[in-house]
Amino acid sequence: MTTIDSTQLDPGASRAHAVPGDAVLQSLGVLAGRGLSPEEARERLLRFGPNSLPGARQRNTLLRAIAGQVRNFLILLLLAATALALAIGELVEAGTIVAIVVLAVALGAVQDWRAQRAIAALQRIAAPQAHVVRGGQTVIIQAAEVVPGDIVLVDSGSAVPADLRLIETHVLRINEAPLTGEFLPEEKDAGVVLPEETPLADRANCAYAGTAVVYGRGRGVAFATGSDTQLGAIAELISRDRAETTPLQRSMASLSRSLGAAAVACAAAVFVAGLLHGLDTNELALAAIGLAVAAVPEGLPAIVVIALALGMQRMASRRALIRRLTAVETLGCATTIATDKTGTLTTGQMTATAIVLGPGEAPVTVTGVGYQPAGEFRRDGGPIDPAGEPGLHLLLTAAVLCNDARLEENDGGWRVVGDPTEGALMVLAMKAGLSWERLEELQPRVNEIPFTSERAAMITVHQLPGRRIEYAKGAPERIVAVCASRRTPSGVLPLSGNDAEAVLASAQAMASRGMRVIAFAYRQLPAIDSPVTGAETDLVFLGLVGIDDPPRDESAAAIQACYAAGVRPLIVTGDHAATAMAIAESVGLAGAGDVPMTGVDLEKMSEAGLEAAVRTHTVYARVSAAQKLQIVRALQAAGEVVAVTGDGVNDAPALQRADIGVAMGISGTDVAKESSDMIVTDDNFASIVAAMEEGRRIYDNIRNVVVYLIGGNLGEILVLFCGVIAGLPLPLLATQILFVNLVTDGPPAIGLAVETADPAALRRPPRPRNEPMLTLAIWRVLIARGIFLALAVLFAFTLSYKVLDYDLATSRTIAFTTLVTAHVLKSFTCRSLYLPAWKLPLARNPQLLVAVVVSLGALVLLVVARPLQDAFETVNLDAAKWAMAIGIALVPLVLIEALKFSPWRLRR
Ligand code: ADP
Ligand code: MG
Repeated sequence: MTTIDSTQLDPGASRAHAVPGDAVLQSLGVLAGRGLSPEEARERLLRFGPNSLPGARQRNTLLRAIAGQVRNFLILLLLAATALALAIGELVEAGTIVAIVVLAVALGAVQDWRAQRAIAALQRIAAPQAHVVRGGQTVIIQAAEVVPGDIVLVDSGSAVPADLRLIETHVLRINEAPLTGEFLPEEKDAGVVLPEETPLADRANCAYAGTAVVYGRGRGVAFATGSDTQLGAIAELISRDRAETTPLQRSMASLSRSLGAAAVACAAAVFVAGLLHGLDTNELALAAIGLAVAAVPEGLPAIVVIALALGMQRMASRRALIRRLTAVETLGCATTIATDKTGTLTTGQMTATAIVLGPGEAPVTVTGVGYQPAGEFRRDGGPIDPAGEPGLHLLLTAAVLCNDARLEENDGGWRVVGDPTEGALMVLAMKAGLSWERLEELQPRVNEIPFTSERAAMITVHQLPGRRIEYAKGAPERIVAVCASRRTPSGVLPLSGNDAEAVLASAQAMASRGMRVIAFAYRQLPAIDSPVTGAETDLVFLGLVGIDDPPRDESAAAIQACYAAGVRPLIVTGDHAATAMAIAESVGLAGAGDVPMTGVDLEKMSEAGLEAAVRTHTVYARVSAAQKLQIVRALQAAGEVVAVTGDGVNDAPALQRADIGVAMGISGTDVAKESSDMIVTDDNFASIVAAMEEGRRIYDNIRNVVVYLIGGNLGEILVLFCGVIAGLPLPLLATQILFVNLVTDGPPAIGLAVETADPAALRRPPRPRNEPMLTLAIWRVLIARGIFLALAVLFAFTLSYKVLDYDLATSRTIAFTTLVTAHVLKSFTCRSLYLPAWKLPLARNPQLLVAVVVSLGALVLLVVARPLQDAFETVNLDAAKWAMAIGIALVPLVLIEALKFSPWRLRR
């Protein structure tokens, strides 16, 4: 294999359109049939770099994570406190603060970095892919790994991964709006060579990165990747993949900042008031430092990222990949899910089980299950031989040839590559002994109009010796409308109006049994080179095939879960109204009284009419992608927060417009995936509901962590503030408070972030979208918790110092022990803000249990270990003092639980 001379490659300002395809291939050192060898590809990847735009490249470096932590306003505050401690000569205090801060910054940065990496890894799974030829094999690789010289295959729904010189095109049409602003798809032609000055928009023999194939298929050689592409040239203009912070993260950051600011104000107030009362300056400075430290929830920002990352991992294990972080939060607000039917509510495991050859004819039934090509054709209870019936045979021939799916046998099972509907038709024909290879050899395909949901039909043209034949398949009403005659055992007869009605009635009957119905027709072409327009009118009707697509086992339960969660599920499908209704009823989505709304109804409706209609209708059938977008808009106008599913290229606008665009992982096109906020890897409706549950849970958990951490901070502030006001010596030292905030708080907070025991997530209505995370009611709970905690600590300190006359260090150690014990155990009461702690099985959250043990262990170390005693000014406690401190610590827990039964309890 020759290697390329980089100077020959002229990325960016390439002349690829001005030379023949062969010349481009040659200059890139690649053969169209073989592609690059894997080694060559690896080497070029090193040489040319990844095929991604600079903005999208690794932004989660460890260094940046650390910088983020250091810049953190809160850390600065602590450094100021250190400076103050130094200024008043408290060297040990200053040293301890510095040591703890360094440790915390390091730990926080590492955790933050790991969380970011986990998120990035998850998002990478959802990253775009490309089909390329490498070493003679078609392989799927990450789009970022495409290199100059790669032979890239694209078809309807592909996102073009790099700038390609096309070398093969089949009615390839590409939407180049992102580059040219032109919304009409460009027809491509690999065969032409264009003048060098041809503008980008007219280069029919090239396809450019960032554009989308809407039609047909093609193959091309990549001549520019990454920032060398035309898209790269304008990349700064389109700000995608910006480092993204979610509203939640932002509000957490601002909450931390305001708390910090409040602490500074508080500290200043105490300081000034103390000075006026003539108190000792050093003592006051220490109190001020302590207050500043107390108020700062040091761990909060990192915990939010960790909670998001862990939650996203849990979602991924439940088959939902998050592409945009904001979706995690928005999921909890979703009020409507507009879902596809085929493959989402149904299994998508299609089996053709019925054939009707003409008006009034007895149906042929076909046995067999799934994609196993074994089964029998029967009519009136007896087996028949399909080969012996020319009409049936022709229909099956059409089913094989007007078909892009292939069947593959792998370890005993059969698998469809391509559209499951077409796979089922292929299986049907195989059951009758037809072979695709043989038919394709006898009647090679020479032209085609691919299936789109808009047309709801597909046409192919085939070459026979000296003549051509056209096969069409599609939705019955579309096909019947273009048929002029029908094929019967006694020859071709005209298709009368009555016949057409009878056919459509049969289709309706099949559809209302939940079947997907496909009609077939054909036409002998008058001339060898007759053009195909898709608007043919004199087709010969062949028959109907009914395809069974049973609902998924889990769909009905998922629909019920939606209702319980206050979320309205809707079906929006391209399929027949009767099919949609049958499936809707079988999964409990619609009752007998429900009326489906069809695309035709929608067309006649005004915007206001639609807005009213979407409030009441559940089933939308024969809906085009454009109408899907209208439905999403109307729902949003009616105040709904909408999740919508999609798979096709045409679904992209609806997916983007929706509050949560959900792309199908299996059947979804690249374009749909790239427009989505979330990808469901198994195409299953139940996975969307699971993701919604996790989304709500993540939000709840983060809120619980906030209540836990901020409640603790508030308690500490109150202890110091009241202590100073009451003229007591400082009940807790700044270093001790820092230890609580940075060491013993952390593990339980992470334990709370992974909580899964609270069953509330799917049993209450969605959260209003602009409701703040801390509502007034939650603030009340939080403040109560802070007060209980402060009372316990102040009580422990006064009892020790004033009543029992212990020395100051002992009293502080007791107060500290009470604080840590109470606060660490308080995490159990934060697992749910509604349910009593004992209702939540501990086994559901072993992490929290471990975390509590670790934190209490740290407390014991601090109290008994010599070097730590020096640093934190603690002293050994005897059994009675331990018992006293712990006993007092239990009181706030009882009070908090009692509050859950009081008139002031939180209600969902
Ligand atoms: P869905 O929402 O069920 O996926 P589609 O838009 O894919 O709906 O299909 C709409 C209708 O087009 C179907 O009811 C069927 O009659 C017809 N159809 C589906 N797939 C094909 C195909 N591959 N070729 C021809 N017609 C098809
Ligand atoms: Mg479909």
